[in-house]
Amino acid sequence: MKRQITEAEKQELLRTNRREDGKIYCFIDNEPIDDEKNIHFDHIDPFVKSEDSSLDNIAPVCKNHNLAKKDMSLTEYRDKLSIEKLFKGKEELGKQLKLNDVLSARFNTQYGYVAKYQYDSDKEEVSIKYFVDNNQTNLPNIKSYPVFTCPITSMKFFYAQVPVQNIINDGKEESDIELQPRPLIIDHFWNLYRHLRVNTQLQPSICRVDGENPIFVFDGQHKAAAKIWAGTKQLDAKVFIEPDVIKLMKTNLVAHDKLKQLRFYSSILADKLAQIYGVNWQKYVETADKKSEKGFCNFVKYSETSTDENPTKQIEAFIVESILKHDENNIHPYVAPENKTGKQYAISRDSLKKYYFRYFVTNPPLDVEIDSKDDFRNQEIENNVRLLNILTEKTLTDKWNPDSNSDDHKKAERIYRTGSIMAWFPILRNVIFNKLDLINPNEAERILFRNIPTEKWELISKFVEKLFSHKIWIDRDPNIDIVIGNKKAELTKKLFDEKGLTDKWILGMIE
Ligand SMILES: [Zn+2]
Repeated sequence: MKRQITEAEKQELLRTNRREDGKIYCFIDNEPIDDEKNIHFDHIDPFVKSEDSSLDNIAPVCKNHNLAKKDMSLTEYRDKLSIEKLFKGKEELGKQLKLNDVLSARFNTQYGYVAKYQYDSDKEEVSIKYFVDNNQTNLPNIKSYPVFTCPITSMKFFYAQVPVQNIINDGKEESDIELQPRPLIIDHFWNLYRHLRVNTQLQPSICRVDGENPIFVFDGQHKAAAKIWAGTKQLDAKVFIEPDVIKLMKTNLVAHDKLKQLRFYSSILADKLAQIYGVNWQKYVETADKKSEKGFCNFVKYSETSTDENPTKQIEAFIVESILKHDENNIHPYVAPENKTGKQYAISRDSLKKYYFRYFVTNPPLDVEIDSKDDFRNQEIENNVRLLNILTEKTLTDKWNPDSNSDDHKKAERIYRTGSIMAWFPILRNVIFNKLDLINPNEAERILFRNIPTEKWELISKFVEKLFSHKIWIDRDPNIDIVIGNKKAELTKKLFDEKGLTDKWILGMIE
C-alpha cells in the first residue's frame, strides 16, 4: 500500500516542510526533529481513503513515532493518541467516558443544540428545526422527513442525517429516563473510528425526539462517537418520535442481553477472531443475524478489507491452541513445540495436528449458529482435553522418562512413533464411535462434538487401557520397529492386524 518516495521527492518534502526556524517538525506531536537522520515520511490520511499518493498526503514524522505507529497513517496514529488521552483523562477522575464527553472534547460547549420537531399525522411527515447555537438566536436549519410506523408496536419513526451538534447522550444527566447508561469502550471506539473513516456507516444510530431537547442517542453511541471523532458533521440515525420509553428500554435491554451472550462466546473464539481481524469482526457482528464460523469466513472473503490471513486456518489454529493450552491439559509437557522432535518429547505439535486432530476435531468452518443449542464447539474442546488426558495418564505419566531406558519408557516411545500414531489414532476413533452408539457415518467426522456422559467416559478410558495392554507394545520382535519406522499408515495397520491389534479386539468382539 505504501509508496516509496524518490530522493528528489524527499528533497522536495524537506524543502516544503522546513519552517522559518530552519527545522522540520514531527507531524504527531509538533516537536522539532533535531537530528535530520531521524526524519521519516509517511501518509497523512489512510491511503485507502484518499488514494492520494501525491506529496500533499505525505508529512514528516520523527523516527520514534514512525516506529510506534506501525501500519497506521499519521492522522490515525495522532487520533489514537488523542483518544487514549481522552480515556485516560476520565479515568484519572475516576469516571468513564460517554458520548457527551466526546462531543465536549470536539465542540467544547457548542453541542447539544435543541431540535424542535413538529409531527404532521395527516401527511405522515415530521419537520425539524435544528438550532445552530445554544441561545437559539440564529436561524435554525429546517428539514422534513417522511414518518414510518412500526407494524408491530405502532411506534413512529423517521430516518435522518442529524447534525452532530444537535445530539446528546440519552443518559441520566440529560433526561428523566436513562436509556443509555453504558460507557464507551476504548477498543470498540477505536476500531469503529478507524473503520468509519474509510467506510460508510452501515447501520444507523438509534435516537428519539421528546420535548424541546436535543436528539437523544440511546443506541449506537460507539458509532456516533467514532464518527464525531473522525470529524463527521452528520450522523445517520433512526429517530423515534416520542416513543414509549419504557418499552424501548426493555427492547434495548433484550437486544443487549443477546450481545452479552455473544461476548460470552467471545471470550474464546470471537475474541480471537476480533483480535486477528480487528474491525472486520465488529462489522460482521453488526451486519449478520446468524453468527457462525462459516458466516464469518464468507464475510472475510467478500469484505473489502483484504487480508492475508485465511480465516479457516485461523479458526483451526485457535481450536488447537485452546486444546493444547487448556488449563487442565496434562499432555502439554510431552508435546514438542512446532515440528521439533528430539528425545525429551513424546509427540510433536505438528504430528498431533496431522494425525490426531483430523479424527477428533470437527473441521472448521462450522455452519451452526454460535452459542445455539447445536453448537458444541466448546464441548468438543473440553472433550479433547479429556481424551488427551486419558491417553496421557495411560501411556505417559510416570512412564515417559527419556533419561532412563526403562521398559515403560520404551513402550511409550513405540506408542508415539509417527508410524504408530498414524494407525492407532483412527482405531481409537472407531472404538469411540462404536462406544458412543453413533450410527450415522457422518457422525464419525464430529465424534467429540457433543455432550458425552460420565459413564461413557469411563468406558472410553477402559478401552484406551485395553488398547495399550496389547503385547505388540512390549514385543521384542525387531521387525515391529522396522515396520513402524516406515511411517506408512497402511504398513503399520497391516502389522497391527497380523498381531491382532484391531478395533474389534479392543471392543472385545474377538478374544
Ligand atoms: Zn515525533
